Amino acid sequence: MKRKPQALGAAAIVAALLLTGPPAFASPAPGAPGVGDALWPTAGNGGYRVERQRLSFDFADGLESYTATSQLNLRATQSLSRFDLDLLGPQVREVKVDGKPATWQSTSDGELVITPRRPIRDGARFTVTVTVFNTAPDLEKNPPAGSDDLLNGMWRAGNHVQLHAQPVGLRRVLAVDDHPSAKAPTTVSITTTGSANSVANGRLVSTSVSGARTTRVFDEPRPLATQLLQVGVGPFTVVHRRGPDGIDLRYAVPTDMADAVLPQLDKTFPAAIEFLSRRLGRFPGSVAGVYATPSGGALETQGLTWLSAGELTPETFVNNGFDGVVAHEIAHEWFGDSVAVARWSDLWLSEGHARFYEWMWNDAHGRNTIEQNARHAYEVHRKWLGANGPVAAPDAASFGGSDSKPFAEGVYAGGALTLYALRQQVGDTTFERIERAWVSENHDGVGGTEQFIATASRIAGQDLVPFLRSWLYAKGTLPPMPGHPDWHAA
Ligand SMILES: [Zn+2]
Repeated sequence: MKRKPQALGAAAIVAALLLTGPPAFASPAPGAPGVGDALWPTAGNGGYRVERQRLSFDFADGLESYTATSQLNLRATQSLSRFDLDLLGPQVREVKVDGKPATWQSTSDGELVITPRRPIRDGARFTVTVTVFNTAPDLEKNPPAGSDDLLNGMWRAGNHVQLHAQPVGLRRVLAVDDHPSAKAPTTVSITTTGSANSVANGRLVSTSVSGARTTRVFDEPRPLATQLLQVGVGPFTVVHRRGPDGIDLRYAVPTDMADAVLPQLDKTFPAAIEFLSRRLGRFPGSVAGVYATPSGGALETQGLTWLSAGELTPETFVNNGFDGVVAHEIAHEWFGDSVAVARWSDLWLSEGHARFYEWMWNDAHGRNTIEQNARHAYEVHRKWLGANGPVAAPDAASFGGSDSKPFAEGVYAGGALTLYALRQQVGDTTFERIERAWVSENHDGVGGTEQFIATASRIAGQDLVPFLRSWLYAKGTLPPMPGHPDWHAA
């Protein structure tokens, strides 16, 4: 799915053509500064599509800073006098359009406004190259003081570097079209000094050494949303395994923790892929893996899941149910990664599904049943509906200026609860058919809420529009749970 044309509606364009005949080319106008996302109006951009992105990182010795270059192949969807990329913070060194210097202006709300020497015609393919200088703050010396904003971007944890780009953090690292609907095949090049290893999404396609400097190039041919990029640098070891359905597994683990971490990964990671493949169909890509970092945290970075190395040690892994988190992140490979959200208000399609299959995994592994988890979520739902609004229409104002909006409990638990209600309504077999249709029809694409509702109705052979809307857009209280008339909200 792509952004809409701006000023003129289709009817107006037809009328204009009838009156004047087709113009030689439309007069160039600025591309929109955003895709019109209600939660982040300036996220992403209008007037072009990204067809391919090549992102290069050249780290200084010591990893405190880096030079980053984005080379984006774009195709204009209107005649452009100028266009925007998203960039917030880094120092711009150079901007070129089709190899020629372009004028640019960086705004305080995260837009890099680029004016090429000549306007770009509607439909034309062109290349923009932006080089920036940036620093990678040390998380241990400067721990974030309560603000999620500080976590977004590229940072160091001890002697490791990692990236937290979700949801709009990549613009803090280099210039990109920073919206999940702007997916594109991605090549990442990482240059480091000394013995540090490096890793990124996709496959390692080349390694070259020049003196003390090593450059590794990774290629992800599947479209990748900017929020799902991962770039890791540090003293880690990469091991390869053969995974379910013949996919390649790649684990990047801190070298000094490899013996402690790998047994848990070997036990859980392929098992989680198998568990989900049985329900959803084949894993969406041909490569899967983990970047296990000393910093903690977990994120569904496509084909290279970020997991906390500390949580993968035997001391903590067995007791705290971290395997449920692994299953959650793997579920995102289908929901959120392969099928990206069309708008941020559709986030329940990603996080709700991941939570639902996490519940399912935990149920199958002797923890709370899915009914217990759903019942608990149902009982407390008024709290999160009151805090942030409906599951599929979160209230932007309720999140303030946080970089983490709209990752709120209502999106996770409310999304999972909606899926549970749907399963109760249509039965297990039909529910599984809906899920399989959703991930296969939108494989490596983009999906939104109304599209999911239409898919569910078509596959179930019944009009589920009123039912699903009553769950997804409820303002104060959710409908009664099918099959559980005894469930009540507190
Ligand atoms: Zn998640």
